[in-house]
Amino acid sequence: MAYFAPSGRGEGGNGGGGDQPSDPSYPLPISSSTTQLGPQQNGVATAIQGGAPAIPPLNGSSSGLELMGGAQRTMNSDNLSSTSEAQAGPSRSQLDLFMAMAATSSAQPHQQLVVESDGRAQIQPMDEVQDPWEIANPPPLDPRSGPYAASDHMPTQFLERRSPSPSRGNLFFANGDGMSLALSVSSPSSRSSSVAPPGEYSPQSRRGVKTGLVYSHLMMLHTVPGVTSSDEGDFHPEQPDRISRIFDYLKDHGCVAHMKRIQIREVKREEILLVHDAGMWEGVEKTAFFTTETLALETETLERTASLYINEHSAKCARLSCGGVIEMCEAVASGRVRNGFAVVRPPGHHAEPDRSMGFCLYNNVAVATRYLQRRYGDYEGRERVQKVLILDWDVHHGNGTQQAFWDDENVLYISLHRYENGEFFPGGIGGADDQVGVGAGVGRNVNIPWPDSGMGDGDYLAAFQRVVMPIAHEFAPDFVIISAGFDAAEGDHLGQCRVTPNGYAQMTHELAALANGRLVVALEGGYNLESIERSALSVTNVLLGEAPPPVREGTVCSVPANQAIRQVELIQAKHWKSVQPTSAQDGFGSEEDSGVPLVQLPELIKAHRLQAIARKYQLGTLPVLTQEGAGFFDGSVLTSMDLLDKDPAYETVVVFAHDMGNLRAEIPLFEIYADRERAYMVDASSKIIDWAMERGHAIIDVNVDAQLPTTIKPPVLTGGTRPRIGTLASERANGRRNQAREALLYVWDNFVDILRHATPDADKQPRVVLIGHGTACEAVLQLIEERHVEAAVRAVVQVPAHSTIPAIAKGNPEKRKWYWNRSKVILPYSHALYSFGEQERLGKRLGKTERSKEVRAVKVLLEEFEAISSFIDEQLSKKR
Ligand SMILES: [Zn+2]
Repeated sequence: MAYFAPSGRGEGGNGGGGDQPSDPSYPLPISSSTTQLGPQQNGVATAIQGGAPAIPPLNGSSSGLELMGGAQRTMNSDNLSSTSEAQAGPSRSQLDLFMAMAATSSAQPHQQLVVESDGRAQIQPMDEVQDPWEIANPPPLDPRSGPYAASDHMPTQFLERRSPSPSRGNLFFANGDGMSLALSVSSPSSRSSSVAPPGEYSPQSRRGVKTGLVYSHLMMLHTVPGVTSSDEGDFHPEQPDRISRIFDYLKDHGCVAHMKRIQIREVKREEILLVHDAGMWEGVEKTAFFTTETLALETETLERTASLYINEHSAKCARLSCGGVIEMCEAVASGRVRNGFAVVRPPGHHAEPDRSMGFCLYNNVAVATRYLQRRYGDYEGRERVQKVLILDWDVHHGNGTQQAFWDDENVLYISLHRYENGEFFPGGIGGADDQVGVGAGVGRNVNIPWPDSGMGDGDYLAAFQRVVMPIAHEFAPDFVIISAGFDAAEGDHLGQCRVTPNGYAQMTHELAALANGRLVVALEGGYNLESIERSALSVTNVLLGEAPPPVREGTVCSVPANQAIRQVELIQAKHWKSVQPTSAQDGFGSEEDSGVPLVQLPELIKAHRLQAIARKYQLGTLPVLTQEGAGFFDGSVLTSMDLLDKDPAYETVVVFAHDMGNLRAEIPLFEIYADRERAYMVDASSKIIDWAMERGHAIIDVNVDAQLPTTIKPPVLTGGTRPRIGTLASERANGRRNQAREALLYVWDNFVDILRHATPDADKQPRVVLIGHGTACEAVLQLIEERHVEAAVRAVVQVPAHSTIPAIAKGNPEKRKWYWNRSKVILPYSHALYSFGEQERLGKRLGKTERSKEVRAVKVLLEEFEAISSFIDEQLSKKR
């Protein structure tokens, strides 16, 4: 496509634009009708008129040159140095005068230097300076000429909501972005450390700012239809204030003054088509012409089917959001700035090639990536952008971005997200760890799926250290884009994770080491306004060159995160040499593959149970009554030998369902063999069996992990196919869950129930105690829900470790009440429940929960054992 073809450099003239003297091919976006250049700039003016620019302007508007309409030119810290180098604009003595003046205490707040076309300079109050967006995009002459003509300016309801403080006020409109030098000098909140000392023109400021910023309040016009008041946040988490709060916070902390404002623009149809279907573009575009009633109706449907809302401004906002990310990438790729932050909305990473969804209309980052590849892919040397790393730390999986580059070897997509067996939005198995791409793109898709909420700095930084950064360095990208949702931030109620601002700073710092620092941060989700502004500030500080502050003392990787990362290591070790496969995946993955007989560990453990445990406690295996039971009960269920024929029958039967003991082994770094003398299994189950025997109870011990699949085989996907529903990861988890549930139901129906019915006297029927440990807790609760256990069960103890706590289904108040009165649910100190008020929401459905002082699952059981034991004794002593 000619539009994107980079032509030979330097063809288009040799003058150079004001802030881009070194790149003659840089598009010169100035329309000759609005700008008169000063006498010293004739050379430039000739170049503009004399030949078409080598690369036609990609944007219809300005691209960072803050040129005033009429015969004025506004100077600011962005173009001071370059214009003086190019011998354009005001003379050096004028600049010196202004610098000196601006730096002295006599400078008035909110003033700036305006240079007339004849080179004369004068100071003007800031308020007279227009917003660059308005300059570049003057409202149409005829207010009826387009659907947005009347609303191109900030709606008053947003303005009225602004803080009346002098540092904001109407500067929000009137160049209040802190772009001007005068503002940066006089603003009380500016970063004093990097402001030039009085009277001195520091070399640092001569080099100009190196971090770009894209922002426009126009993107606040996208709201739930009919909702324009300050109550927006009550209607939808993806509210307009998300971007203004970030912008204001950056401004109030002096960042904006040190950033180069990059002009936003709307994305073009042909750019959207690099990723999306034409039908999708048209679908979004036509919403601008819907009536109020249609918008409301459409939104009602879209909310339900695709988590979307639209109003009459949505299409425009989506075009700006996408165009904003493109322009930010363009500014970094062209070298105008070193890195940058696009504070945009609506977000993009859920938007798939053929449909908008999940608050996202167009996939901003995907389109910008394709744009970069088309425009800079054929360059030589440092300018070339062929390989792009997209790092997505939004708490949701970026299904749209993954799909866009599914078979692309030049785009490495790495996402860290809550997954939870595909139950967390966007759902399905697209975000599973085994989704690695197809064809040439195999291994270029890296999903790091969190099994639960509550992940924090320790978890993210461990993933960075073990997976993200090794792969990123091996890939060696030419450009890095962060899909920066801040919904994994501490305080975000949608994400329910705990990444701190310092955590985000650390991750940004690590990513900035790649691609010669060519890094663009593009806003995605993030719904707690305080969390997102603090996180954004932290990231921006790193972009501006500050060292990241340390994360909290004692930050460690949690057990579930560690397991998830290990699984990713196993899968990605096949595609990346830098990922250490500290696992058994060295060619002996299965007997078929290797031809070597393999004894799987679960088999060894089963044998151990059948031999050592069974002998020690005089336990036997349950007789298999059905065909289906045959496979499972082979060593998985152990019971008191005389369970069925003891006379009189046992008074109490303890059903203990648990996953396998924790296996500990020391594995020397860079090896795959465990040190045999330092490998052991921590099996807390014997503690329960000991106790039950001591009390004279019968025991039914159910190991739910018996049928663990033992080889990892990524699903085979043929070229071009998108992720299928129901492949490995979720099947594996679901399969195990079903198996545990079926095992318990089987035990109940065929043994416990029969045992009870064999005793006609209801008073003498054995009482049952249910104990769940680890992942087996869910099966225990399913048994309670699916069978009439109330008469038999006297106590339920659940020790779910870090797993989700199973809750009684809604709409069953009787069962809930029963469960509440008989349950004890003990949780590790660090369980996510305690961070997010989850308990209040679920109330009594969780049963009676208690918080242990211990963190590790096995230790929780051991530490709380006395409490568990006395709880059960107490329940059993109660009258029937
Ligand atoms: Zn998100």
